[in-house]
Amino acid sequence: MRRLRNVKIVATLGPASSDYDTIRALFEAGADVFRLNMSHGTHDDIAARHAIIRKVEEDTGRPIGILADLQGPKLRVGTFAAPVDLAEGQAFRLDLDPADGDATRVCLPHREIFAALEPGATLLVNDGKIRLKVDACGPDFANCTVMVGGTISNRKGVNVPDVVLPLAALSDKDRTDLEFACELGVDWLALSFVQRPEDVIEARELTRGRAAVLSKIEKPAAVKAFPEILAVSDGVMVARGDLGVELPVQAVPPIQKRLVRMCRAAAKPVIVATQMLESMIESPVPTRAEVSDVATAIYEGADAVMLSAESAAGRYPIEAVKTMNNVAISVESDPTYREVIESSRRANRHAVADAIVAAAREVAETMNVKAICCFSQSGTTVSLVARERPRAPILALTPLVTTARRLCLTWGTHCVITDEQYRFKGAVISAVRSVLKYGFAVETDQIVVVAGVPFNVPGTTNILRVAPCEERLIYRSEPE
Ligand code: PGA
Ligand code: MN
Repeated sequence: MRRLRNVKIVATLGPASSDYDTIRALFEAGADVFRLNMSHGTHDDIAARHAIIRKVEEDTGRPIGILADLQGPKLRVGTFAAPVDLAEGQAFRLDLDPADGDATRVCLPHREIFAALEPGATLLVNDGKIRLKVDACGPDFANCTVMVGGTISNRKGVNVPDVVLPLAALSDKDRTDLEFACELGVDWLALSFVQRPEDVIEARELTRGRAAVLSKIEKPAAVKAFPEILAVSDGVMVARGDLGVELPVQAVPPIQKRLVRMCRAAAKPVIVATQMLESMIESPVPTRAEVSDVATAIYEGADAVMLSAESAAGRYPIEAVKTMNNVAISVESDPTYREVIESSRRANRHAVADAIVAAAREVAETMNVKAICCFSQSGTTVSLVARERPRAPILALTPLVTTARRLCLTWGTHCVITDEQYRFKGAVISAVRSVLKYGFAVETDQIVVVAGVPFNVPGTTNILRVAPCEERLIYRSEPE
């Protein structure tokens, strides 16, 4: 099953998409990675979905990525006897008293927040709909004025945009979920509400290489510290939902553009997420504006676009994936897309591997070869080839299923599991067999092969070879 586009599609699973038939249909419609949201569902639900994805993988013979998304330090108010309407200008108090809230106060069960608050700070409740300004605060209370009113009810989320919160990056629940997800065997772990690079480092220490670590950028502090956060992350999500609560919505598009570029330059996959096809939760067709939003992310060169409630809880999960797939095919066949992608390529050729992948793209274009075949253990070389955003498809060949699954998030890569390679000639033959098998080329075509010899030593990308797609010719001409 070969995709006819380069950008990848991430589909969140949920109540609308938890049985084998739906998950398989989502995959066939174009989902490359499935997101399991640890904020919802029990460990049993998550394990069941994980098992179904692995079954679909087995039945279709294609690697599939699984991303477990940790809830992170999401703040919530306590409970109310009944929902309360807050009016603009009225006073409202937050405290540590667990008793039910009313029109004058409610519990905010996070002592650390009170310690970090200062008069003048803004608190946002219920996806930013309600805005409170802190007038006075102490170690166990904050007296606020309601700046924008609205209805407040049980356990609504709270955002504190102006303050770097002295919160552990991972709550106790996150630690339990992280261990559970790693043991289950997910490929990516997403960290919510990352604030500092240390948050990511802490998670890496716990995952111990069992999963790649992806930072969700949804706090102003993370935008500020982005270069440092990117340096210690394996991938990034532009989490526009919470980002658009914590910052003015109009600040989000420039941030999206900048983050996508920086991730590409660093050869790390970046997902653009949230509300991409929001209306498809209820409607079988998207709005024109949504189609345009998906297209924009693709024109910018994002590695992946994501569906949240559209695929997890909406009425049209499969149609939503199909829509993204169709938009991707349309954008990527536009000559302007190639112009944009090529003009935003950065010269980044300091190491041998950088030079080899840049040359691979150039040779592939000059010779009109049908695929760039790339042997890789860790996936690093493949990511560098993908950073070039070549016109020719990228065939990633690896003996490690974990690498193949992680690369499902990387732009333009079609992953194939091969035997362990020992000799270059054997590797070229294996590449040729794969391109023929998956329909990338016919016998009269040529391919480019990128590899590092000796094999199985990381960081040795040092060979670029143009090879014919006829085994007979390779036997005759290829050095050992
Ligand atoms: P969420 O993250 O869906 O887990 O909230 C994405 C976002 O905030 O955009
Ligand atoms: Mn979020």
